[in-house]
Amino acid sequence: MPEKKEKATREKTTKEVVYSLSRKSRCSNCDKRLEPGEIVKLQKAEEDREALCRTCSKLDHFELIGKGNAKITRLAAKYSTTSYVVMKWSEVWKTYERLGILAEPEAVDKAEQEAQIKLANREKRPPQSDVKPSM
Ligand SMILES: [Zn+2]
Repeated sequence: MPEKKEKATREKTTKEVVYSLSRKSRCSNCDKRLEPGEIVKLQKAEEDREALCRTCSKLDHFELIGKGNAKITRLAAKYSTTSYVVMKWSEVWKTYERLGILAEPEAVDKAEQEAQIKLANREKRPPQSDVKPSM
């Protein structure tokens, strides 16, 4: 019976999905110009006019971990209170492909330590104490 006492394992089956823009857009909330490659939340996946920039979607303090870092990704997702799957539209395949995940920088730090791997191009520096989530 694989009935281990895994109380700490939080069920995260419903991961939220965010998108990496494939074309220029504007934030539907603050009207900020959005460049391709920026991470946005889309209200409806088909309608990229309804994009919310990273700030407006409160994703500013999250850090992107690109795919190809399976171990870090898994650990960071585990340690992060919330994590998001980042999808990107592929013109070649005409489908969304997984780009990576967004996790809290603290969780990425922890993951790096545990896996004893240093990610080459961390998007964020280690957390600053004056950054607090606006919630
Ligand atoms: Zn915005």
